[in-house]
Amino acid sequence: MKIAKVSDLVGIINRFAPFAHAEEWDNVGLQVGDPAAPVSRIAVALDGERAAVEFAIAQGCSLLLTHHPFIFSPLKKISLADPAGSLVALALRHDLAVISLHTNYDVAAGGMNDLLAERLGVVRCGHLRTAGWDELAKLVVYVPTGHEETLLEALFPHCGVVGNYRDCSFRTAGTGTFRPLEGAQPFIGEVGKREAAQESRLELLVRRDSAAAAVAALHKAHPYEEPAYDLVPLMNRGAARGLGRIGYLERETTLEQFAREVAERLGCGSLRYAGAPDRRVRKVALCGGSGMSLLREAHRQGADVIVTGDAKYHEARSAEELGIAIVDAGHFATESLMVEGVAEVMRRELSAGGYAGEVIPWTDGQDPFRSI
Ligand SMILES: [Zn+2]
Repeated sequence: MKIAKVSDLVGIINRFAPFAHAEEWDNVGLQVGDPAAPVSRIAVALDGERAAVEFAIAQGCSLLLTHHPFIFSPLKKISLADPAGSLVALALRHDLAVISLHTNYDVAAGGMNDLLAERLGVVRCGHLRTAGWDELAKLVVYVPTGHEETLLEALFPHCGVVGNYRDCSFRTAGTGTFRPLEGAQPFIGEVGKREAAQESRLELLVRRDSAAAAVAALHKAHPYEEPAYDLVPLMNRGAARGLGRIGYLERETTLEQFAREVAERLGCGSLRYAGAPDRRVRKVALCGGSGMSLLREAHRQGADVIVTGDAKYHEARSAEELGIAIVDAGHFATESLMVEGVAEVMRRELSAGGYAGEVIPWTDGQDPFRSI
């Protein structure tokens, strides 16, 4: 088992929730710390609040993963008199790196909103609003016979994913020719003499935002001094990603009963809802955190109710006019399930990558709001 570096973790997260898919206004990725530092214990929290940072330090973690950006508004100074500055200093003093995965995680397949749908029993889900599609390329590389597996091993962390399949590749056998010139140090053949080598042509699908990492891995693992490869942009659309989800409850129920179930399933003591208690609900739109900007989209797609947090008074009035109900379970309750969700993905990805490491979810986080 290997020990991962902080930069390896950035790469792992980038594969399941690409940072390039974050909203433009967001600040995701490595927030604080040394990309080259080793990581054997990782804490996960919704917010990079003081208690979460202290928990990570007390647990001997060298990395904290948060959903909400650890640094959101740009800092002009790191003053210990300032809450943001003192948290940055606290993390740095204890060699704790912080990576945030926010709106990139919201839109990811298996990310925040899929977790929320699953928790609420909402099935046959589609996206409330499509945010884009993965852009794809084909990586073609020629490798001497007998070296295919070593090269594929290095490439699979970056490419070869087709839908629910990973490690996908295709190979054909053939003959490569080359004449090493003065100054070359050929793996096969001699300087000045034309060589004909038995080679395999390997083909793999790669997301364009992972292509640079794949090519870097190729250069590192390929036995040739000058590997021959093609990186070809494709017209194929990759997986769609989207904001929010819309799907169905297994059985129609009343708004009041549904609201009670949401409260129970999300473990919130209380919540607010808007709409007639006895109205029937079956088609459910949802968006963890602050999702009221998707109200019209939810209505357009025929949702009976939207589940989110941070609904405002005038938005509730608009929903009334549109004839769509709101269940406002709060920002915290609709997102805190990411802590266990991300921990599970990280455990799986670390193990798939052959990395040793422990992932510790911080489950003591509390909603800053209390109800009486
Ligand atoms: Zn949020």
